[in-house]
Amino acid sequence: MVQIVQNLKIFNTLNSQKEEFSPLDSDHIKLYACGPTVYNYAHIGNARMAVVFDTIVRTLRVLYPKVTYVSNITDIDDKIIDAAKEAGVEISAITEKYTQIYNEDMSRLNVLEPDVQPKATEYIPEMIELIIDLIEKDFAYEKDGHVLFHVPSYNNYGKLSNRNREEQIAGSRVEVAPFKKDPSDFVLWKPSDDTQPGWDSPWGVGRPGWHTECSAMSEKTLGLPFDIHGGGRDLIFPHHENEIAQSCCSTGNINDPNSYAKYWMHNGFVTINGEKMSKSLGNIILVKDLTDKYHGEVVRLSLLSSHYRQGLDWNEKIAHQSNKLLTKLYDIVNDLSDVKISEKLDVDSGGISALMDDFNTPGLIAELNKIAKEYNSKEKEDLNKTTIKSKLILIGSVLGILQDKSFNKASDELREKVELLIKERLDAKNQKDFDLADKIRNELLDLGVEIKDTSDGTDWNLK
Ligand code: ZN
Repeated sequence: MVQIVQNLKIFNTLNSQKEEFSPLDSDHIKLYACGPTVYNYAHIGNARMAVVFDTIVRTLRVLYPKVTYVSNITDIDDKIIDAAKEAGVEISAITEKYTQIYNEDMSRLNVLEPDVQPKATEYIPEMIELIIDLIEKDFAYEKDGHVLFHVPSYNNYGKLSNRNREEQIAGSRVEVAPFKKDPSDFVLWKPSDDTQPGWDSPWGVGRPGWHTECSAMSEKTLGLPFDIHGGGRDLIFPHHENEIAQSCCSTGNINDPNSYAKYWMHNGFVTINGEKMSKSLGNIILVKDLTDKYHGEVVRLSLLSSHYRQGLDWNEKIAHQSNKLLTKLYDIVNDLSDVKISEKLDVDSGGISALMDDFNTPGLIAELNKIAKEYNSKEKEDLNKTTIKSKLILIGSVLGILQDKSFNKASDELREKVELLIKERLDAKNQKDFDLADKIRNELLDLGVEIKDTSDGTDWNLK
């Protein structure tokens, strides 16, 4: 086991290279990943982050005896304040509702609850303490009720994002406010008026800047330093750069960015049919709509079908490929239901070596396709059923699939529905109601079903 564990390689954004994973304490691995800001339904981008880090955590749990995974909920933010004002409700009504929806949506994707899910509003005293410390150490200053981190006071600023000073200022997209000593300085604390939520602080009633929360909560829940810090790649700058600055200048070592977190992992963006997902394009896909249409495991496997650091282009085709593969795998697992396997599967049980190479999930999915193909092409007597079942169960547990015994029943339901719609379409055609026939064809397309009329009737296929 030790030898294989040493072979785990992780791409570390901090050094821009793949490195051997050498934990701070191999008896207890600690990770923190930035979670969502809760003011709306979870979208596919939120889901990818959650699924990617859940898969990383599941893999680490196979390799190490203890793993603590922390992923936060940002429940104080100007976007939340605006959403509450617009809806005419209390902020907590918005944050509680969407935190619950987020957790329900993620559990539909087999994302296990993090060991700790800290909420920003529950850590305000820790944030105030961190800010006081940064002021005392001359890395931060107060002006007009604002507290700002003074970026030029920290020489290692820009190490994570590899940005020089001009790029930092251009990228931080902040207005050059009169209370700033330097345009790159960022907000640790800001004043709140009567209509905004606020907490008492040495600088008056106010609220924390976004970056403050993750430094305070990761230190409180995991202690510094910890092994892995993750999130979407849009967080590299400025969010994670600012976290490093805050934590290294406070508790950590100003000369060593590793004194906060050792490995930084970032997942790529999701695009939709080749386009960036945005409100203005109206192409934001919500998890609740996706899971209405597809089984959660189909969505999950699709989200893992490209390497986590690469972009993922969501389209119907990947969902159908995932559905097809899962159907085949469930058939095999059902077929092998009487085969006994060891209760305790570990990395030596084989099958997950692709994940040792920076969590190469597409490599592992290729392996699953190979298993399915071999299983269906060989004579049953020639198969090592115990090995195949052990591999599938282990791979299923790390990828978070093959957990739902009723999966193929769901596909049977789809089959029945499709057959019924095809019959209704044929009736419509016979009665020359072509509008209805077209409507039914579109309904089938929405289900991901393509039909082809032949002399013997209608053939159908999942796209
Ligand atoms: Zn964060």
